[in-house]
Order: sequence, then structure tokens, then C-alpha cells
Amino acid sequence: MADSFHIAIDGPVAAGKGTISRLVADRLGYLYVDTGAMYRVVALLGLRNEVPLENEAKLVELLQKTEIDMRNPNEGEKDGRLTTVLINGEDVSWAIRTEQVSKGASIVAAHPEVRRVLVEKQQIIARQKDVVMEGRDITYRVLPDAQMKIYLTAGDTVRAKRRHVQLLTKGTDISFEEVYTQLLQRDQQDMSRSTDPLKIVPDAWLIDTSDLSIEQVVEVIVGKVRVVRGQV
Ligand code: C5P
Repeated sequence: MADSFHIAIDGPVAAGKGTISRLVADRLGYLYVDTGAMYRVVALLGLRNEVPLENEAKLVELLQKTEIDMRNPNEGEKDGRLTTVLINGEDVSWAIRTEQVSKGASIVAAHPEVRRVLVEKQQIIARQKDVVMEGRDITYRVLPDAQMKIYLTAGDTVRAKRRHVQLLTKGTDISFEEVYTQLLQRDQQDMSRSTDPLKIVPDAWLIDTSDLSIEQVVEVIVGKVRVVRGQV
């Protein structure tokens, strides 16, 4: 294997994958890759073009015609986003974060051909680079040879509370019950699809973030990477 270092992180909705991955990547100087953003882009393309999210062939066609760019937010974009996502040059970093797109992403993510195209893009991004990549199938499909595999989770109520606060902060008027129900529904869909469902692989390090602060989780991951890489 090349001497690049890959940290693969999987886990359910609102386990803290995004925030933690971004901070770990910044601390180590690695590239952070949010693969969920790519499934969200496919859902957004479908919704905008009035393509039913069940129509796999048409979604793949739209995807092939679209240029997707993902990069670190620059100085003018520091508005709380973890990553900047552009489709054909348009900034959709917030447009892909609505509840409608979240639900849609989980639907389009069940299509094998959509997954094949996106997994290939993700593998190309990670080639020759130190990365922290997070999603649902990273530990066993996208980066099966990753030197560090992590399954990040937290209790259902804790996750729903975190997600609820995030949505309220963004000005979305939604009840806790609704957030809780949608979160469980999305997890259920992600864990039961036949192609590459969310699962815990035997060689993953399981971290339950329910009673830990973000900084504690980041610290323990960064510490372990340094040990594994012989940097301590
Ligand atoms: O992580 P995030 O919630 O942004 O992901 C949105 C949806 O994309 C997930 O609910 C899941 O259905 C899908 N996804 C996936 N595989 C990945 C990343 C995300 O199926 N590697």
C-alpha cells in the first residue's frame, strides 16, 4: 500500500461523524471527505429536475453530467459548514442539508449504480492522500485497507437531541418527535438496504459518543493515530 494514511469512519445519523472527522483532519493536516454530501447531491439533482428518486437510470444520467467539487470552506465561507460543496460551480453546501434532501439521500443511496459511481469517485479522491473519510460503507467498501477503522455511534435520544438543536439553530421549525422518528427511519433504511448497508465490521474500533465531549473523542482518535504512525 502507498504510504498515505486512511482513517475510515462509519456510523448512523448524528453520531458526530462530520464534526469529529473535520477536527481530526485539521489536527493531523489530513483531507476531510464527507461522502454523505455526495448522496445528498444526487437527491438534490433528482428533486430539482423532478426526477422520481426511484428512477435510478435517470439519476445516474444526471450525476454523470454534473461536476461535483468538494473542498475546505475558504475564508468567506466560514458560516458553520464543515465542507463546501459545489455542483457545476454553484455552492449547494446548505441546499443539501434540508430535511427533504436528507430523506431523499437515504432513498437514492439504495441504488447500486449510484453507489458504484460515487464509491469510485471517493476512491479516486483518497488515492495517495492522507484522509479522514466518513459515511456508511467506508470501512469495508470504499477504503477496506484503511489503517484505522472507526464506528462512531451514540444513543438514539442523544443523536435526535443533537440533530434537533442543529435544525433549530438553522431556523428549521420542527418538533423533537418528528426529528426522532425521521432519524430512526433513516437509520433503518441505511441498515436494511441490500447494497452496502451500514454495519459494524469486526476490525472497527467502536466509539460511543453519548457521554463524551467532541474534544475528548477527537483527542483519543488523534492520540491513537500518532501511536499507530509511530509519531509519539
Ligand atoms: O451522512 P449523511 O447523513 O449526510 O448521509 C446522507 C445519506 O447518504 C445517509 O442517510 C445514507 O443513506 C447515505 N450515505 C450512504 N453511504 C455513505 C454516506 C452516506 O449510503 N458512504
